[in-house]
Amino acid sequence: MNLDSGGAPVMVASDLDRTLIYSANSMALVGSDHLAPRMVVAEVYDAAPLSFMTRAAEELLEGIVERSVFVPVTTRTQAQFSRVRLPGSGRGYAVTTNGAVLLHEGEPDRDWSRHIRRSLGSECAPLDDVLGHLTGSAADPAVLRVRTAEDYFVYSIVDRQALPDVYLDELNDWCGARGWTTSLQGRKLYCVPAPITKEAAVEEVRRRSGSGLLVAAGDSRLDAGILELADIAIRPSHGELHNDSFSRPNLTVTSASGVMAGEEILRFVSDVLARPATHGPLAGSLSGHPVPSG
Ligand SMILES: [Mg+2]
Repeated sequence: MNLDSGGAPVMVASDLDRTLIYSANSMALVGSDHLAPRMVVAEVYDAAPLSFMTRAAEELLEGIVERSVFVPVTTRTQAQFSRVRLPGSGRGYAVTTNGAVLLHEGEPDRDWSRHIRRSLGSECAPLDDVLGHLTGSAADPAVLRVRTAEDYFVYSIVDRQALPDVYLDELNDWCGARGWTTSLQGRKLYCVPAPITKEAAVEEVRRRSGSGLLVAAGDSRLDAGILELADIAIRPSHGELHNDSFSRPNLTVTSASGVMAGEEILRFVSDVLARPATHGPLAGSLSGHPVPSG
């Protein structure tokens, strides 16, 4: 692996929810309330604050946005993403809708959307088949609401406690046989066509921006591809990949979990950017706990 960017800008690709920003329910704060970190609101929904990051995390992100090609990479739809306010919002590239949409300076790239539509054609079952499966006779009562995301994929709001593991396994197999993948994140269960990936869009942005070194962060199975694509990757010690014990040689796992993991990820990335041109040594010597490949 060549960690020398050779003068090319470093690209930082990061998932948002439960990686950089956190709802009140996912913060996992520990310790006394009076010692809790100061927070900033990263998203308002229906006139109420919904997602947060620590103030220190926001300051770190401001520095990262100045020094790198920073690309938010999210499964959120364009509308859901537009509510998120981060340093650098609306500038440069952003990947939404799990990679189906590439935003540049806030505008969707038509060539990319056309490319994605074409790639869906023969490789996977139509969206209506998956929608029908989730709402038809095979539906589980713990699947409370089913929604489509810009007609690219399907997500359901589920009652996590009541949702049987066997249903998830069967759904995963059913989808797999039809060229779709599943991911469970909090109360959201995603079914996504296999060709719609975050990593394909990140690779495209890397090419267009002429970036060299790629640093990536994410917490769910839908982020596994960008973590594998990256030269240096980090994930929080919570979430779907953590439950899977996901590990790779280039991957560091945070010490903290919850909203403090978000801050730790940004400190880690900031440290990578602060290093001289080679951006070495490897991730393992930084803060956090590298895990052996397995
Ligand atoms: Mg996430």
